Amino acid sequence: MTAETRPVDHVIAAIRAFLGDRITTNIAMREQHSRGEDTTTPVLPDAVAFAETTEEVSQILALCHRHGVPVVAFGAGTSLEGHVTPVRAGISLDLSRMTAILDVSPDDMDCLVEPGVTRHQLNDHLRDQGLFFPVDPGSHCTIGGMCATRASGTNAVRYGTIRENVMGLEVVLADGRVINTGSRTRKAANGYDLTRLMIGSEGTLGIITKIRLRLHGIPEATSAAVVQFPEMRGCVESVIQVMQLGVPVARIELLDEVQMACCIAHSKLDNLEALPTLFLEFHGSEAGVAEQAETVKAVVTEMGGLGFAWAADSETRNKLWTARHNAYWAAIASQPGSRGVTTDVCVPISRLADALLGAKEDIEASGLSAPMVGHVGDGNFHTVILVGQDDPAALERAWELDRKIVARALALGGTCSGEHGVGLGKREFLEQEHGMEALAVMQSIKAALDPKGILNPGKMFRN
Ligand SMILES: Cc1cc2nc3c(=O)[nH]c(=O)nc-3n(C[C@H](O)[C@H](O)[C@H](O)COP(=O)(O)OP(=O)(O)OC[C@H]3O[C@@H](n4cnc5c(N)ncnc54)[C@H](O)[C@@H]3O)c2cc1C
Repeated sequence: MTAETRPVDHVIAAIRAFLGDRITTNIAMREQHSRGEDTTTPVLPDAVAFAETTEEVSQILALCHRHGVPVVAFGAGTSLEGHVTPVRAGISLDLSRMTAILDVSPDDMDCLVEPGVTRHQLNDHLRDQGLFFPVDPGSHCTIGGMCATRASGTNAVRYGTIRENVMGLEVVLADGRVINTGSRTRKAANGYDLTRLMIGSEGTLGIITKIRLRLHGIPEATSAAVVQFPEMRGCVESVIQVMQLGVPVARIELLDEVQMACCIAHSKLDNLEALPTLFLEFHGSEAGVAEQAETVKAVVTEMGGLGFAWAADSETRNKLWTARHNAYWAAIASQPGSRGVTTDVCVPISRLADALLGAKEDIEASGLSAPMVGHVGDGNFHTVILVGQDDPAALERAWELDRKIVARALALGGTCSGEHGVGLGKREFLEQEHGMEALAVMQSIKAALDPKGILNPGKMFRN
């Protein structure tokens, strides 16, 4: 290395020796990797590297570790809290080309995949075997990214989040060593749980290169329904009762009247009105589904629900859930040229009405537009606070609103993030949520696994 060569330039040259043109300093590619789906100020990485094997990831990390160069893992870049923005530049390590489904075991109901596989790709592959993978964020994200953010989706109320559906991982550590975590058994009491440590670590502790996932059988019967309410309280109270009764709903999603107006316009849900609404789905045997639906119908009727509109055939069901998965884009499309600051609080189910109705009051007081949508069976809901692309004052007001909604959720025993993660946007709440001592333990784990602080620096912790 010559005196004037920056360490990162040396590392880029060394990586080029084995990746060839799969490492690039092309400006358009660097811009594409400068931020995720959020309002963070973009920062260009020095280069973008597309790895295709564990061996390549290991070599890249060993080089970056030796020369103290930052590495930010990049899946599909759909995260919402500044996770992928390379705040200290360095290498954006793109794993989206690692798309092999390595093994599916119908007998054990598990599979082994590379991190760039998407849930759509996996479910298309599994369909003929009567199996499915249930974790379904409303984005075209990668399974590696989902593990790294501890993601969930509309099915989590029945099937759990990614945390409950990952059995083990292959992880490349900061210095290039490769470890395997977990096991294929349904139970294991065999040492510290490194799988759970990596799940939700947001690329700060290691790079996930293989994932063993738990799979589920496609249910014998599925039916979906929509219920609308004249006002929000009845809608939320219905959810609380359904959950407290222990009805094993597969999905129970709430959209407020503002979000419904956006979805009706965006997804052509012409038979529905802009009212607080629940989208529901039931899985099981024919008799089980009918029984669940009857119980829920009785609850929502008592709470003032305006009838139960069935979506029994798969085409109507798909239209409904596609509209739900596109809710974020429907919100953004309602104010052309806007971006969204997304809140993600989660509270114990008994406190859901306080959290949600309180958040609606905060939104009203702020004067901002913020459609609301929630995986309410888990006590988790989002507001997409809409701000103009170039309106720093509105952006500051949006963050203030976010802080208010989080403060209420924390006071109710909840968390600042049910599923999106910390990134840059939620770092300020961690101390309040976990306490100084727990945060110090987290930082000592980070220091032990990544002593030079090269993995996604600046994230999770404020210093
Ligand atoms: C329209 C929309 C809807 C969404 N709906 C949901 C939802 O319902 N539920 C939900 O949970 N989230 C949701 N999200 C957020 C987002 O899709 C998830 O956080 C997703 O898990 C991110 O995956 P990704 O592949 O895009 O990861 P990226 O954004 O590329 O990366 C996210 C983080 O993971 C790290 N990372 C990525 N791959 C790896 C790897 N292989 N090893 C180690 N670290 C890695 C990155 O460094 C970064 O810190 C939504 C986002 C959008 C835009």
